[in-house]
Amino acid sequence: MSEKGWLDVSIFRCPECGRFYVDASGYVVELEADIECGDCHRMFNTKRQLVDRVMLRFKIGEKGKMLGAEIVEHLPISKDERLV
Ligand SMILES: [Zn+2]
Repeated sequence: MSEKGWLDVSIFRCPECGRFYVDASGYVVELEADIECGDCHRMFNTKRQLVDRVMLRFKIGEKGKMLGAEIVEHLPISKDERLV
């Protein structure tokens, strides 16, 4: 028998070079954090570059080891959270 865990994650993209990033939605949507792109070093706001948000479900073994993950649903992105 296995346990389950959930994580709300956001997918966003560097406005300069187009590299995709994935991070916890709490960090992106709630904190509206700025990051520096690892490839082109441009600073940008993660929430303004949001392209998708999904709920992941993790399968966890009896001893707490992660066994796998799957997308449960795509969460709605409100208009002010998306780059127009
Ligand atoms: Zn970049």
